[in-house]
Amino acid sequence: MSELRRVLKRQFGFTDFRAHQKEIVEAFVAGRDVFAALPTGGGKSLCYQLPAVAGGGLTLVVSPLIALMKDQVDAARANGLAAACLNSTLGEEEARETYRDLAAGRVSLLYVSPERLALGSFRDALAAFGVTRIAIDEAHCISEWGHEFRPDYRALGSLRALFPSVPIAAFTATATRSVQDDVIAQLSLQKPLVVRASFDRSEIFYRVERKRSVGNQIVGFVERHRGEPGIVYRSTRRATEETAALLRQRGIDAAAYHAGLSQEERRERQEQFVHDKVPVIVATIAFGMGIDKSNVRWIVHGDLPKSLESYYQETGRAARDGEPAETALFYGANDIATIRHHISRMEDDSERERSEQRLQEVLRYAESGVCRRRQLLAHFDEQHPGNCGACDICRGEVETEDATVAAQKILSAAVRTGQRFGGRHLVDVVTGRATDRVIERGHDRLPTFGVGRDESLEYWLSIVRDVESAGLLARADGRQSGFRLTDEGRRVLKGKASFVVRRSAVAAGTPAGGGYSNRGGGSARSGGSIPSERLTPGGDPARADYSPAALGGEEALFQRLRRLRTRIARERGVPPYTIFSDKSLKVMVRNRPTDRRAFLRCSGVGEYKLEEFGEAFLREIREFLAGE
Ligand code: ADP
Ligand code: ZN
Repeated sequence: MSELRRVLKRQFGFTDFRAHQKEIVEAFVAGRDVFAALPTGGGKSLCYQLPAVAGGGLTLVVSPLIALMKDQVDAARANGLAAACLNSTLGEEEARETYRDLAAGRVSLLYVSPERLALGSFRDALAAFGVTRIAIDEAHCISEWGHEFRPDYRALGSLRALFPSVPIAAFTATATRSVQDDVIAQLSLQKPLVVRASFDRSEIFYRVERKRSVGNQIVGFVERHRGEPGIVYRSTRRATEETAALLRQRGIDAAAYHAGLSQEERRERQEQFVHDKVPVIVATIAFGMGIDKSNVRWIVHGDLPKSLESYYQETGRAARDGEPAETALFYGANDIATIRHHISRMEDDSERERSEQRLQEVLRYAESGVCRRRQLLAHFDEQHPGNCGACDICRGEVETEDATVAAQKILSAAVRTGQRFGGRHLVDVVTGRATDRVIERGHDRLPTFGVGRDESLEYWLSIVRDVESAGLLARADGRQSGFRLTDEGRRVLKGKASFVVRRSAVAAGTPAGGGYSNRGGGSARSGGSIPSERLTPGGDPARADYSPAALGGEEALFQRLRRLRTRIARERGVPPYTIFSDKSLKVMVRNRPTDRRAFLRCSGVGEYKLEEFGEAFLREIREFLAGE
C-alpha cells in the first residue's frame, strides 16, 4: 500500500480514492500547480487536506464561505487534523490563539477569507510562518465569466508574486471552459495539472412537473420524504413564508430563510438545519452556498430557476455523501412572466440578453422530452452516453415519442451543409424553404432539402431545440458559430442510438402562450418513492443500495446510530455529519461491527475517529444485536 493510501485510511477512514483525487493529491504534494473542476460532492476538500497531512508544512485554504469555515475546521479536527481559521467573525481571543499556534508550528491547515488575505500585516505574518502550499476553494469566484464573481477574489491574483515558489491549487464545482481559462490566467498558475471530472451526479434523480397547485405538489413531495433533510427553493420571500407555514400545518417542521430576516435569525436557522434540528428549509436562492451538509436527501424548486447553472448548483446541494437523493422542479406560465418582467427592468443591454438566453435554456430543459441528465451535462460540454434511467423522462413519467428519424434529418442537414449553420437554416433546408441563403448556397439541391415537409415549422424548431439540448449538435465556439455534430450526434445519425422527445413537442414548445395542454408533463404521481435501484445506475459498488427499504428491519439500528451521532454532536457543538456521514452509518448498519478492527474497516472510520467514537458506537451496535 502506498504512503498516500495509508494516510487516506488512517486519517480519513477511506479505502479508495474517488475519481481524480489521487492524481491531484500527488501533483499538489509534489509541488505542482493544479486546476480542478469537480462537481459538488466530488471530494475536493480531501484534495488539499490529505496533502496537508502527507506533505507536512502549512497549507493555506482560501475560501469565501466565512459562515462555513468553522464547520470545515470542525470536520477536519474530527479527523485529527490540526486545522484553524482566521476571518472577521472570530473573537480577538480566538484569533490570538490561532496566531500563537501558527507561530509554534502547530497548524497544518489554515482556512482564511480573501479579505483577510488582502491585509498587508497578515501577508507579512504568513511569510514569517512559511506557507507550504495554497489551496483556493470556489475558485470560479475570481472570474467575471462565472455566475458568482466576487471582487474580493481579485486580490488573489497577487498570490503568485508573493509566494513565487509555493504551489497553488484552484478548486471549483462550476466551470465552463471560459471560466477555467480565466481562473488559470488570473492566478498565474504555471503549467498546472488540469483536471475536469464528469459533472454527472448519478445519485441525483431529476423530475420536472408543471404547476397545478404548487403548494399541494410541494407538500406531497415533502411528505414522501418525511424525516429526511431537504431544501425547498422559492423565488420570493413571501412564497418561502407561505410554503413553510403550509408545511408546518401538515406537521412538518420547516423554517423559512430569506434576505428579509436579520443576520442573527438567518444564522440561527441555517445552524438548526445543518445540525439536523429542523429538517426542512424553505429558502430563496440566498440560501445554499454556505451549506456544507452532506446528508441533504431532496431538493424542490417551487418556481422556475433563473438559469440551468443555478439549478444544477442548487440541486447539487443534495447527496454530497453519495447516497441517492430526489429532486423536483415545479414551474408554470407565471414563473416565466415573472422572470421576463425582472429581465425587462435590467439596465445593462448585454446583461439583459444573457438573462434572456439563460431563461430560454432553462425553459428548454423543463419543456423537452430529452433525458434531463443528458441535457444538464450537455450544458457543461459533456456528453452522456444514452439515457440515464434516473430521471422522469427515462422513467417514462412524461409521455414521449421516438424522434430518431426526425433528428437524423436535422443532423444530416447539418453535415451536408458543412456544419456551419445555425438551427434556423437547418430547419429551412429540411422543410424545403427556399430562402435567399438557401438558394445562394445551393442548399435547395441537397437530398435533405424538403424531407421534412410533412411536419410544421414549429415542429422542426422544437426538434432542433431538443437535438441541441441533448447535445447531439453543439456550437463549436460561442453563440455565433454554427452547429457541429458531437460523437453522440454521429451515433444517432448512424442509427446506433435512438432519440426521444416529449410527445406533442409543438404545444410544449410554446409555453409563454399559456394554456398548457398537460398532456406531456405533470403526470400526477402520488405516494411511493422511487424504487431505489433506479437511482443507482451501473453496477458501481460504491453506489450500493442503502435506502431504508433495502435496509428493511435494520432501519431501527440506523435510527439508533443517528440518535447517538446527534447526541455526540450536541455535546461537542459540531454538526452531526462531521462525526460520521449518513453513508458511514449505513455501512455500520450493514457490517454490524462488534470490535475495533471491524469498526475500522467501515468507510469513513479512520484511526482518530476510532479512538474518539469507536467505543460509543460499538456499544450501541452490541446492545442492538443483544436485543434483536
Ligand atoms: P466537495 O467539497 O467537492 O463538494 P466534499 O469534500 O465535501 O466535496 O466531499 C463530499 C463527501 O465525500 C464528504 O462526505 C467526504 O467525506 C466524502 N469523501 C471524500 N473523499 C472520499 C473518498 N475517497 N472515499 C469516500 N468518501 C469520500
Ligand atoms: Zn434520464
